[in-house]
Amino acid sequence: MERVGPGLWSIPVPIPFADLRYVLVYALELTDGVAVVDVGWDTDEAWSALTAGLAVAGYRPADVRAIMVTHIHPDHYGLAGRLREASGAWVGLHPADAAMLRVRYDEPGPLLEDNRMLLERIGSPADEASSLASSSLPARAFVNFVVPDVLIEDGQRLDLPGWDLRALWTPGHSPGHLCFVEAGRRLLFSGDHVLPRITPNVSVHPQQRVNPLADYLDSLRRVGELDIAGVLPAHEYRFADLAARLAEVVAHHDERLAEVEKALAAAPGTSCWQLATRLTWSRPWEQITGYMRRAATGETLAHLIVLEQQGRAVRSGGRPERWWRPDQLTWT
Ligand SMILES: [Zn+2]
Ligand SMILES: [Zn+2]
Repeated sequence: MERVGPGLWSIPVPIPFADLRYVLVYALELTDGVAVVDVGWDTDEAWSALTAGLAVAGYRPADVRAIMVTHIHPDHYGLAGRLREASGAWVGLHPADAAMLRVRYDEPGPLLEDNRMLLERIGSPADEASSLASSSLPARAFVNFVVPDVLIEDGQRLDLPGWDLRALWTPGHSPGHLCFVEAGRRLLFSGDHVLPRITPNVSVHPQQRVNPLADYLDSLRRVGELDIAGVLPAHEYRFADLAARLAEVVAHHDERLAEVEKALAAAPGTSCWQLATRLTWSRPWEQITGYMRRAATGETLAHLIVLEQQGRAVRSGGRPERWWRPDQLTWT
């Protein structure tokens, strides 16, 4: 719990079962209460941390007027319902993320089938496809499903007395990911879009847009155009040099694209799944299990689609899809 500046607080809210350890909730003091950016997972431990943090700033949950959520991942959205119940605050999300809520957190049946079909298409071994398709279901336990009250569009100004806050749509990590820009104070609430040390997962999945990595890189350019003195991310820690961090993240994806291209050259006609097993990850492939395996293959596919868009890869149809470098294709 930390006072970031006048009227602005950072509250670390613990996340269960994650290396990230906590999500940073930001509390913005208003004339008649307080607004928050993101809320944390829906656990009693997280709720206690959130309410204790608000208390240090001098607020009760009932004083919350606005709940602005960067995207619908459980660590950001999970407690939105509980906090709204305690306060009557409005919950705001970008429409593209709001549209995914019901299928993801309320009636996941069709989504599981779409997951399984995508896994088959990319070449997942048949015995793994079914279990992997449902590997994200446990996360639902940490989300209180609520329909947002406000749909926040790109460029929309949020009506918060004392603040000059504007939403910036930054799709990539999530189709409806939002950053919030405080122009007067030159602050960027960056959610998971830009983090100081790690890069967010940008992967193809059934609820994603067609080319999420291209979206993500475009979104990095969008925040790069802002005049920002301080970045307030949802994980890790705050930092100042946005331009330097953006350059690192872009370089990381350039390297990753080159690595995928090289792996493709070594194994022409390979499936996305097979290719993923040949890439370097933070741990050996055998230790990447369950949902992590889906994230890794989805990330590989996201890079392949950018290579395809750049004329550096081509694919066949069929199941599984196979990939080549254009210069390796021979037409007979
Ligand atoms: Zn996220
Ligand atoms: Zn997150």
